[in-house]
Amino acid sequence: MRGRGETPTVEEVRLPAPGPGELRVRIRAAGLCHSDLAMVNGTLAPAYPLVLGHEATGVVAEAGPATRLAVGTPVVLNWAPACRDCWHCRHGEPWLCAANTAPSVARGETAAGESVQVTLGLGALAEEVVVPERAAVPVPAGLPPAQAALLGCAVLTGVGAVRNTARVGAGESVAVIGLGGVGLAVLTAARRAGASPILAVDVVEAKRELALAAGATDFLRSDDTLGREVRARTDGRGVDHAFECVGRSATIRAAWRATRRGGAVTVVGMGAKDDLLSLSALDIFHSARTLRSSVYGSTDPDREVPELAAALAAGDLDLAPLVSGTVSLAEAPEALDRLARGEGARWVVTFPD
Ligand SMILES: [Zn+2]
Ligand SMILES: [Zn+2]
Repeated sequence: MRGRGETPTVEEVRLPAPGPGELRVRIRAAGLCHSDLAMVNGTLAPAYPLVLGHEATGVVAEAGPATRLAVGTPVVLNWAPACRDCWHCRHGEPWLCAANTAPSVARGETAAGESVQVTLGLGALAEEVVVPERAAVPVPAGLPPAQAALLGCAVLTGVGAVRNTARVGAGESVAVIGLGGVGLAVLTAARRAGASPILAVDVVEAKRELALAAGATDFLRSDDTLGREVRARTDGRGVDHAFECVGRSATIRAAWRATRRGGAVTVVGMGAKDDLLSLSALDIFHSARTLRSSVYGSTDPDREVPELAAALAAGDLDLAPLVSGTVSLAEAPEALDRLARGEGARWVVTFPD
């Protein structure tokens, strides 16, 4: 990315050699995420030129001094590696680590010698990255690369939102608004938690089959009838848990309205700072609902990525419905356009061995 709103191009970038505590990782697969779009359209404000990408799997190709992982170790990249030393890390909230606040950091340079930024400390839409070792979580060998890549963002975020933030229990009712990669991961996790019914909501009718494959019991169109359709499936009450996976005030409001009195709304989508949500003081009091966000699934990736990777390896977690297709790096800009148009779930860039 050369600047906000511009079309990404494929360019040669020179990476530094891995320093102490750093690894060079050869990327096998990298997913295209809405947060990458946020870097393209300016919802987030990174510095440019910028290498996109933060959801990836690869193999350690070179280990700098004072590292533990051996060359050849398969890893999933973590875009919010915990420092283990700040207030949040010491109080059991590594996903809010104070060391991870910048949308991009400087690493490497262009062929012309210009300093380059990498997205969320990774810049994973590339053949290789150089990252701190704590941003690389070892996983078993032999995982399907396109599915393993999703463990680093969409799946960790969606599963964590259900398991850690909302703590959905068996038999509880769930609505999921917005069926991109994260929304579909929320559906998968809700089914694993034994939730019922699981109502999948999107504006795009074409998401119906995807939603049912990922674990939804019902697909509902996101329109004026949504509240009525949700209440019709929850004895007139609304759902116990609504997950907003879009990042817009309008869909947060729809999630709020779909939730029963005393229920919980979990905002998983990342929205814009000028998109304001208005709720009446009476509504907030009378509905007794909880509204909160789930950042990176309220998860510790060092613990949960290996757990999810083991489930994937054992065939106990099927992420195939989340992968709409694989593309080459040259095709990534076009796939980002498809993502922006809401076509499919996750498009994943794969690299030849
Ligand atoms: Zn992401
Ligand atoms: Zn920290």
